[in-house]
Amino acid sequence: MPDRSEDFLFPQVRRAPSRFPNPLGKYTLAIGRECENCGICVELCPHKVFQRGARRPTVKDPHMCQGPECGFHDHCCITRCPKRAITMRPNPSFELLGDKRWTPDLLASTWHMAETGEVPHQDLNYKTGASGGGFDRLRFVFPPRKGLFVDEGDISLSIDLNRRDDGRPKIRIPVPFYLAGMSYGSISINAMLSRVRAAKAWGTFCSTGEGGYPEELYPYDDHVITQVATGLFGVREETIKRVRIVEFKYAQGAKPGLGGHLLGDKVTPQVARMREAVAGSALFSPFPFHSVYSVEDHKKHVDWIKHLNPRALVAVKVSTPTDVDMVAVGSYFAGAHIIQLDGSYGGTGAAPDIAKKNIAMPIEYAVPKVHRFLTSEGIRDQITIIASGGIRSPHDVAKIIALGADGVSIGTADLVALECVRCHNCESGRGCARGIATTDPELTPLIDPDWGTQRIVNMYAAWMKVLRFILKRLGMRSVRELVGRWDTLVHLDYLQPEAIQGELEN
Ligand code: SF4
Ligand code: SF4
Ligand code: SF4
Repeated sequence: MPDRSEDFLFPQVRRAPSRFPNPLGKYTLAIGRECENCGICVELCPHKVFQRGARRPTVKDPHMCQGPECGFHDHCCITRCPKRAITMRPNPSFELLGDKRWTPDLLASTWHMAETGEVPHQDLNYKTGASGGGFDRLRFVFPPRKGLFVDEGDISLSIDLNRRDDGRPKIRIPVPFYLAGMSYGSISINAMLSRVRAAKAWGTFCSTGEGGYPEELYPYDDHVITQVATGLFGVREETIKRVRIVEFKYAQGAKPGLGGHLLGDKVTPQVARMREAVAGSALFSPFPFHSVYSVEDHKKHVDWIKHLNPRALVAVKVSTPTDVDMVAVGSYFAGAHIIQLDGSYGGTGAAPDIAKKNIAMPIEYAVPKVHRFLTSEGIRDQITIIASGGIRSPHDVAKIIALGADGVSIGTADLVALECVRCHNCESGRGCARGIATTDPELTPLIDPDWGTQRIVNMYAAWMKVLRFILKRLGMRSVRELVGRWDTLVHLDYLQPEAIQGELEN
């Protein structure tokens, strides 16, 4: 039976083209002087790459071109042009994008999904990066196709956020993700609004991060998670009472042991007012809560929130130290509903590399460790595990759920949907020249919240299609069946082809 909790969910996919005149694509196309303006290429291209011009067509959307594999189709403009006037070349700027984790292909495929709501038709690798480890070396092994009769429409993607029997609301979200904390100050109010409104469209939640609760978010209270972090910026009883989930941020996987920081240039008068700080002064959150040095202190924290807001669920965000399993069990006994394990790959470009690459445990190690330990303690089915920190694609979502998480929390991919290029300049000067990680009043309007909402809605629409496809190939009717099924995965470093029974994902 289909899960009826998903019935209300109709996030509308609409085309949301790039806001820049020359969107970056993998290939460039040029039309030579031999062109006699017959218009065949304009008519034939199914991806509307060309538009009519007075003397010859212009290349309007080269980033939508299918690339050399189009040559196998009858509609290929290059082979069908009567004057052989069209040339295609790899775009030299494309290879300069991103890094080993967010490769040019992953960036461009995320932009494609955000623009169209569809899985890329191009030869873009939208499944893995090139880090040489972690998710990039894990693959699913699908059972033989014969005998699988699961209809994609019958596959449930919903997860429960309150699995305790404690009289608090049983919140079930129709998709296995919510949007991770990114503060007002670290990103612009328009980027923040885009994320919260996309969360509402998908029937899920978006965390405020640690920068307070801007009034612009009030209409979306039922889809906001308010964060209480170590700096207590903007934390008030009034904001804790507004929401259905309150999140404690004990640590962040990208910079454990450091706390958040926001440099002075980004602390505008508006940000300072929200954080009750002084404009122009750099803000550093302490690493620990100075009120929490034991699990008993942590329980007092959780009790404080539960007392203030009797309908709220409590989430606890921690990084991934070697004893993360003990941290998780402590959080459960302190009364938390959700434990969010934040691994070391996440964070914006503001997180220092020395912390990002050397301190916390990668999320694909932490999640199975916690899943196994909570199972052995007999409490796994009473707490929700959310994984975050470097989940870049629907394949990463499926892999981390197979490793033991119930769902995921996504941050960076939302920014990429808004056309972040992973230039790592989030924290410098006035912030992001693309209007994402900035508080500058001149740069903030570079993102129209309607456009931003649609881009993020579209990206998740494509992700959910892929996730359903993976579940269908595994013969599962619910994403909940995938939790802890690491027998569906292989690691390419330890692959024994003769032992595989089924089809290795390419
Ligand atoms: S098909 Fe060739 S000749 Fe015709 S408009 Fe296109 S480029 Fe020009
Ligand atoms: S190669 Fe194919 S996808 Fe690319 S512009 Fe020509 S017809 Fe369109
Ligand atoms: S494009 Fe903006 S948000 Fe993305 S990494 Fe660069 S500065 Fe940061």
